[in-house]
Amino acid sequence: MHELSVTQSILDIALAHAQGAGASRILKVNLVIGELSGLVGEYIQFYFDFVSKGTPAEGAELTFRRVPARFRCLDCGAEYEPDGDDWTCPVCGALRPIAVGGKELLVESIEVE
Ligand SMILES: [Zn+2]
Repeated sequence: MHELSVTQSILDIALAHAQGAGASRILKVNLVIGELSGLVGEYIQFYFDFVSKGTPAEGAELTFRRVPARFRCLDCGAEYEPDGDDWTCPVCGALRPIAVGGKELLVESIEVE
């Protein structure tokens, strides 16, 4: 159900933008989705179709730009992108990462009519 609440906020943001722009219809919502967000694009589109019914965003297409995970090593402070499932620090070899990027879900832009 995580996707459903997330999708509702995507819709709210898109509708607010469209209203601000005086648009009558939203054609496309471009999203940025982090690799660590745990969110699946297809589910979001599915829920979006559901929650946008009867709004100016009904029928809008969602696009997803995936951004990779980004970690900072707690031992040496290096920032790095993990190599697949290998989360060890490429600089010092420690396995003490904190995520500094890749959890985000952002509305990057919308296209309106
Ligand atoms: Zn390190």
